[in-house]
Amino acid sequence: MRVAIFGTGYVGLVTGTCLADVGHQVTCVDIDQAKVDGLNKGVIPIYEPGLEPMVKANHQARRLQFTTDAAEAIGQCPVVFIAVGTPPDEDGSADLQYVLAVARTIGQHMQVPTVVVNKSTVPVGTGDKVRQAVAAELAARGVQLDFDVVSNPEFLKEGDAVADCMRPDRIIVGSSNADSVALMRRLYAPFNRNHDRVVEMDLRSAELTKYAANAMLATKISFMNEIANIAEHVGADVEKVRQGIGSDPRIGWHFIYPGAGYGGSCFPKDVQALARIAQQNGVEPRLLDAVEAVNAAQKGHLFELVGRHYQHDAAAVRGKTFAVWGLAFKPNTDDMREASSRRLLQQLWDAGAKVRAYDPEAHHEAQRIFGQRDDLVLCDDAWQALDGADALIVVTEWKQFRSPDFARLHTALADKVVFDGRNLYDPAEIESCGLAYYGIGRGRSLHA
Ligand code: NAD
Repeated sequence: MRVAIFGTGYVGLVTGTCLADVGHQVTCVDIDQAKVDGLNKGVIPIYEPGLEPMVKANHQARRLQFTTDAAEAIGQCPVVFIAVGTPPDEDGSADLQYVLAVARTIGQHMQVPTVVVNKSTVPVGTGDKVRQAVAAELAARGVQLDFDVVSNPEFLKEGDAVADCMRPDRIIVGSSNADSVALMRRLYAPFNRNHDRVVEMDLRSAELTKYAANAMLATKISFMNEIANIAEHVGADVEKVRQGIGSDPRIGWHFIYPGAGYGGSCFPKDVQALARIAQQNGVEPRLLDAVEAVNAAQKGHLFELVGRHYQHDAAAVRGKTFAVWGLAFKPNTDDMREASSRRLLQQLWDAGAKVRAYDPEAHHEAQRIFGQRDDLVLCDDAWQALDGADALIVVTEWKQFRSPDFARLHTALADKVVFDGRNLYDPAEIESCGLAYYGIGRGRSLHA
């Protein structure tokens, strides 16, 4: 099937590549000329495990094309995806300007009956706005062509995106039009062989499903962070509590890790956007507001622990050098959007401290965000970050940080202290090496 995909970011590039990999003829369109030029030369703009060889192979096989030419891409395509960003507006609601710009472009250039598939995460009712935008452009051209709008929200996890796309848990198809649903089933058939993963529903329910999924996961994280804070104050160990509750199949093991707060391009903006949708429709989003407030506070928690260790003595922190392991919002990605590291680094700098940071993939992103500054050194490996450091702060749970040589850490760190924002280490083991240890909700930081 010929497919055009607008937006060549995490979602558009991964979706386009996976569709090409199963034999569809895919054209990825982006307005970012440099990104398109790079992709045509084999430069992949994001780090996503397994993606690069797939992009290159499908590009070479001419099943996957990259262009800025919207008219040519849309031309005779029966399916056009919208996969552009929906960043938060000033009030937290989703900014639809990019989605609607693509809808207008489709209306301006479509030549055959088209199914417009919206993959961007959008407020309930956006499908109708896309429909109006396409129809208005067709009317302006004086052209009559059938088209439909389908909601097909994306659930890929950065860091695991290729696997999620090739073996999806579910394929949500939001449409009340039987022909559109049949076309979506044909398109996704190669990913749907083992058992039927397609969940059909009306368009509005599909739009809400995406927000509900992300808000549920964010809620679990904030809940666990709140339990961690309680654990800290009552002298309990949240890791024991996590195991105690995760073993209940009604609760389960996923997304109950306490930590330095959730970040990334999705949870923060989607929780906010859902709260605004609720308010706009007369529903008080009490739980969603709390989820967000807990997360906002949690992102400051590591710095609070630093303050606690140095007895809230500003002079004691000023001039210190902190080694920071992990900058990306989670492992296996270079994405630093809303990453907890960003708040932490700013707080350290505001306190007059210096940072030596290491992340396996996010250096270029950190460079882009922070630029050149005297109080930041981006290091080439984890141990280099410890050179001349007073303390270590672990922010992202990359696998390679899980079992460091604690004796070596003890030798390297002047102040002999580790702040573990992801509870990677066994407090007793690390303390037996002569290091002070601060985790999240381990019931000892207050009593240290
Ligand atoms: P992104 O910011 O990585 O990429 C968006 C791309 O769209 C950019 O390359 C931009 O240049 C391009 N673009 C903007 N306007 C355009 C236009 N008019 N024509 C063509 N291209 C245009 O975004 P993303 O992370 O891929 O997210 C896209 C959507 O998918 C968002 O709504 C997001 O919430 C949702 N989503 C993201 C993830 C994720 O993990 N990143 C997962 C599920 C859903």
